[in-house]
Amino acid sequence: MTEEHTIAENLRRVKDRIADAALAAGRRPEDITLVAVSKTKPAEAVAEALAAGQTVFGENRVQEAAAKFPSLRAAHALSLHIIGGLQTNKARDAVRIADVIETLDRPKLADALEVAMAREGRAPKLLVEVNTGAEPQKSGVPRAEADGFIDDCQKRFGNLLAGVMCVPPRAEDPRPHFTWLAGCARRHGLATVSMGMSADFEIAIACGATWVRVGSAIFGAR
Ligand SMILES: *Cc1c(COP(=O)(O)O)cnc(C)c1O
Repeated sequence: MTEEHTIAENLRRVKDRIADAALAAGRRPEDITLVAVSKTKPAEAVAEALAAGQTVFGENRVQEAAAKFPSLRAAHALSLHIIGGLQTNKARDAVRIADVIETLDRPKLADALEVAMAREGRAPKLLVEVNTGAEPQKSGVPRAEADGFIDDCQKRFGNLLAGVMCVPPRAEDPRPHFTWLAGCARRHGLATVSMGMSADFEIAIACGATWVRVGSAIFGAR
């Protein structure tokens, strides 16, 4: 089996599982967007996914995304999401290359993104990342500060602030985290809830995810 075949097959399987999970939850499959996470994988792997019809991709690191995606974008209509914690000094590069930045988590970064958008004349959509498990090593605004920070971001960015995102602690049941995040989005009238990865995207869909970020189930182990 060629690798190309494998990625196309994996994509089809993941999409089938998304559709099944949506239907089981009384939701429409087309209301769930698959973000294919291509971090650490070569541009060739992304090209194979593009050939199989996948158009939305996620990358953790701005530098890696900047090395991989501009040439792919020249040849394909695609959407690039930055899903890793973002340093303030990378804000301008992120604004230059991304369609969505999923990891807005502090006022200093909001300042940097606002300046970068004005300078670049580009305005990616934004999600606020919440550190629902209060893990010290993870990015994300603490739960207790999330409502205030989201209010501020809605005032500052208007409709560019599209939703919320989280990565629950690995060793915990993700359900309470997913349920909390979906409720947070509802409170703020935000349409986008980005949650669920290879190990738990079906649970995330049951809890209200509208975007799932899936890497290894598509591209293989890292
Ligand atoms: C790597 C990563 C994913 C995808 O993880 P898989 O387990 O490979 O599906 C999703 N979201 C974030 C923030 C990630 O860093």
